[in-house]
Amino acid sequence: MSIIDKALEANRNYAKSYDPALGKRPAPKIAVVTCMDPRLSDLPDILGLPHADLDVIRTGGPAVTEDVLGELVVSTRVLGTTEIMLLNHTGCGFTTFTDDELNAKLTALTGDASPAPMRFFSYKNPEENTREQIKKVRSHPWIAKEVAVRGFVFDVNTGLLTEVHRVSQDAAA
Ligand SMILES: [Zn+2]
Repeated sequence: MSIIDKALEANRNYAKSYDPALGKRPAPKIAVVTCMDPRLSDLPDILGLPHADLDVIRTGGPAVTEDVLGELVVSTRVLGTTEIMLLNHTGCGFTTFTDDELNAKLTALTGDASPAPMRFFSYKNPEENTREQIKKVRSHPWIAKEVAVRGFVFDVNTGLLTEVHRVSQDAAA
């Protein structure tokens, strides 16, 4: 049985005890932008916040794309979140290749270059990635100045978050 078929079977059981109150309009308090990596999936435990408080936006990396910026505008202006957390992590798969390398590899593998150059938003350094994200989000004219924007790196070996400041401590020293 495929994983999806198993999931569909489990869903029928889930729905039997589903609380219809969960279907009411969501009122998340914080937007979290994080990687698609499964190690970042348990955000209520990682952050000690209930599911209902979290508006989670996930991309590979994570990459703060135009789409993500649009989602953050909706999250803060329509859904009412008041803080934005940019959550990067160590050991990210997107640091293991460059966009050029993956484009070349997939072109060779499939014999089809038509999607290239595809943007995968690979990167090398999670702190630097976080700093660029903070700059990008903070400078967006539709994200209110009152909305807190803070960036962090989750260490997959310790489970600890380290805050990344907009200006690197080395540069400031
Ligand atoms: Zn990742």
